[in-house]
Amino acid sequence: MSNESQLDAIVIGAGIIGAAITLELTRKGYRTLSVDKLPAAGYGSTSNSCAIVRTHYSTLDGTALAWESYHHWMNWGDYLGFRDERGLARLIQTGMVVVRSEAAMYRQHLLFHDELGIEYLEWDGPTLRAKVPFYDVTAYYPPRRPEDASFGTPSGKEHPGAIFLPHAGYVNDPQLATHNLQRAAEAAGARFEFNAEVSEIRRHGGRVRGVRLKDGRTLDAQVVVNAAGPHSAVVNRLAGVDSEMRVGTRPLRKEVHYVPFPARGRGEPYGRLASDQDVGVYCREEAGGLLLVGSVDPKCDSLQWVADPDDFDREVTEAQWKAQVYRMALRIPDLEIPNRTKGIVDLYDATEDWIPIYDRSGLDGFYMAVGTSGNQFKNAPMVGRLMAELIAACELGHNHDLEPVSVRGPFTGRDLNLGFYSRNREIHKDSSFSVLG
Ligand SMILES: Cc1cc2nc3c(=O)[nH]c(=O)nc-3n(C[C@H](O)[C@H](O)[C@H](O)COP(=O)(O)OP(=O)(O)OC[C@H]3O[C@@H](n4cnc5c(N)ncnc54)[C@H](O)[C@@H]3O)c2cc1C
Repeated sequence: MSNESQLDAIVIGAGIIGAAITLELTRKGYRTLSVDKLPAAGYGSTSNSCAIVRTHYSTLDGTALAWESYHHWMNWGDYLGFRDERGLARLIQTGMVVVRSEAAMYRQHLLFHDELGIEYLEWDGPTLRAKVPFYDVTAYYPPRRPEDASFGTPSGKEHPGAIFLPHAGYVNDPQLATHNLQRAAEAAGARFEFNAEVSEIRRHGGRVRGVRLKDGRTLDAQVVVNAAGPHSAVVNRLAGVDSEMRVGTRPLRKEVHYVPFPARGRGEPYGRLASDQDVGVYCREEAGGLLLVGSVDPKCDSLQWVADPDDFDREVTEAQWKAQVYRMALRIPDLEIPNRTKGIVDLYDATEDWIPIYDRSGLDGFYMAVGTSGNQFKNAPMVGRLMAELIAACELGHNHDLEPVSVRGPFTGRDLNLGFYSRNREIHKDSSFSVLG
């Protein structure tokens, strides 16, 4: 590594969030170093992200951030301004079917979409059946576990249909997207170092001074950013800032399963990406003729909090496989369910209200982009900008805790108030308290 003493900012974690922050800080003129304990960018939880890009969040702020971020993916090459030798990640714009349920959130979604001018269509039950012929349009709410004797019993109510969001899809390769950010940041002057684990946050007086790596090296910088994903709480503890935060982060174990894409759905324009609170799952098409099935965290599923992000069960469990795949089969009756389980297991970095923390900390110069709660891949490019503005303002002496920084979205022209993501907020009671954010 060249002159390490010349650093302005060290970003801990080169996942999609850390790489985006590194890019934007470097563009602002910071001499940045991104360090990651893994061998390459995007190898942490980002690598297993479903990378769904959608706008329906439970709060206006969440919806506005997702809408702004969507435009970054739509203009990915221009946003990066740099061609990666591996090619660029792509937003596959499938549109998203948001199956309605008795869960009350739909009115809010529509209100926020109206307020922000985001297009949507409302489909009643018969329209949903006509648009997505491989879906069964029976109402089941509330979602249940397969071991529940009432599993699969229709609620007897008329199906309330769906909302269709045309401005939604998924990024085809989340790891490549992170590599794209790395390359763009490097082109702007950033450095990345891999297989480099931060073992200590160095401080001097009330201010951060740099980090120590596990191999014993010390690095100086006036700014250190925690973008450590599911390890965020570990890094916050190293910095000694965890006890002064009203909102905390914890790793949460999650499974996503793969089944063959339903034969009747092949070639259909709608239904390749869906969120379904009526049965408690989300799904999206996956390369190789697969359908990926995740959970929208219905109340009947217990949450699997993990004490140590380096030590959790990485095998798909039979019980959760059945819960997610059988629920999906209620909506897609001809879903082929293989005998052998197949899927991935990874961690969310969840907060109490499933809304992230994008903030400074109680230690001057130490910042956090953490608690992404299973729903912030899509927002990473804009989070990079938010964090760079926040850091620049605070480093110039702005009191963000008293007067939260606001950042104008370059595409929508809307101001995004970072006070919403404060570590000292009251829990956002309007949240879905689920992966929906
Ligand atoms: C199964 C799953 C599905 C998801 N689906 C979606 C989705 O469809 N849409 C969406 O928007 N979001 C989704 N998410 C959430 C999204 O993927 C995450 O919010 C996002 O990837 C988090 O990025 P990150 O950079 O914060 O974390 P990570 O990608 O985990 O990166 C953190 C990095 O920090 C490094 N690190 C940790 N500690 C240290 C240390 N001490 N020293 C050096 N390096 C360290 C790690 O090695 C890691 O590479 C999903 C998440 C999961 C797990």
